[in-house]
Amino acid sequence: MVKRTRTNALPYLLILDIMDNPFTNALKQLKRAASIQKFDEGFLARMQKPEREITVSIPVEMDNRELRMFEGYRVQYSSARGPYKGGIRFHPDADINEVRALAFWMTLKCAVANIPMGGGKGGIVVNPKELSRGELERLSRGWVDMLYPVLGPRVDVPAPDVNTTPEIMGWMVDEYSKRSGDTTGATFTGKPLGGGGSEGRGEATGMGGFFVFEALRDAARIPASSKIVIQGMGNVGINAARIFKNHGHTVIALSDSKGGIVNEQGLDPAAVEAYKRAHGTLLGFPGARQIRNEELLELPCDVLIPAALENQITGENASRVNARLVLELANGPTTPEADDILFKRGIPVVPDILANSGGVIVSTFEWEQNLKGEHWSEKEVLKKLHDILSAETAGIWEYSKKMKTDLRRSAFCIALVRLEKAESARRGTR
Ligand code: NAD
Repeated sequence: MVKRTRTNALPYLLILDIMDNPFTNALKQLKRAASIQKFDEGFLARMQKPEREITVSIPVEMDNRELRMFEGYRVQYSSARGPYKGGIRFHPDADINEVRALAFWMTLKCAVANIPMGGGKGGIVVNPKELSRGELERLSRGWVDMLYPVLGPRVDVPAPDVNTTPEIMGWMVDEYSKRSGDTTGATFTGKPLGGGGSEGRGEATGMGGFFVFEALRDAARIPASSKIVIQGMGNVGINAARIFKNHGHTVIALSDSKGGIVNEQGLDPAAVEAYKRAHGTLLGFPGARQIRNEELLELPCDVLIPAALENQITGENASRVNARLVLELANGPTTPEADDILFKRGIPVVPDILANSGGVIVSTFEWEQNLKGEHWSEKEVLKKLHDILSAETAGIWEYSKKMKTDLRRSAFCIALVRLEKAESARRGTR
């Protein structure tokens, strides 16, 4: 048995060097972490493959009565530490490799946060901006119709991700409860407040990123009042902008998929958001200079926060990053090649599986409240979030110093130790 997993695992890792997609990057990260700490070969082989992947075809009746088919996914990567947990992404470029990578990172993230969840992720290949509200609702419900037999509060608990919102979670949980009879609401998190959602969930990813930043700011020698650049101003980016500004930092640049704006004296995130709502773009915001997204990543600043998509900081542009610290609120924004360049340049990269874990931590609080029939105050939610992230950040920072390695390898090792223990307890891995 062990011999077979060994021979299967190694060629798979070798193939990684000639391929490039988010999942190959994720597996390269695994390989790099396993090079600084020893893990069981069988366990590592298991970690390279999801437990289950499902591709579905979702029929949706469009407003003009035509039937259109959409491709959807759910990857259930690991249940070693609890129910599969992870968001659903609606994006025209979503594909199985991306969803697989995101599901892998969720597995590590839940282990980093030490919450009782495994890892999963979902997606639909769609540009939701091209759909009417009714079409979007039918598509969201359609994803649940196709997948409800493999979801559930003790099985798989999805949440929002790129282009999915509390309203969509509300439709999905409603569809799930009609199909399954489950009334706990605990099968989806990130639901609207009043519809089973948790206080603090909307801002949780940005707030968690801020708690992580605060926990390592002194050690990383970042000023108490720093200049922040944020790529992406969706749920995560705009909340992070507001939170950092409210805590005395200056947000000097923001962007969306169409481009970015800069004002070295500082931007007011609320005003930028209002402008974007009114004009459909942040370009043209008064008093700010317009820049391309690639330029934004190279602006001089104290903290660079990627909060959009994968593969933004690469071997090509990492040498031009002009920040003291990179805080990954997006998933997978930095490639392994860029990690090496930034490490050599002494720029710490706070990895996604720690930096953006606030979202899944508060999602887990939401799940727990739903199952217990409780509703916690925002103060209670934030205190619990703060306590988890301060402790885990300190542990990851110390381990990176001890092993003279980067924060990603350190976070991976800590997560992998927890996962290996869980795997070993239930499957008897050597
Ligand atoms: P969102 O859909 O609310 O926003 C995405 C933002 O990114 C939008 O402003 C969009 O215009 C922008 N964008 C897209 N492509 C871009 C590009 N090439 N350059 C610049 N901006 C671009 O999504 P979100 O929920 O804010 O998620 C953002 C990232 O954070 C994703 O990587 C997601 O996986 C990660 N994340 C989200 C959560 C969560 O709770 N929502 C939790 C953890 C991690």
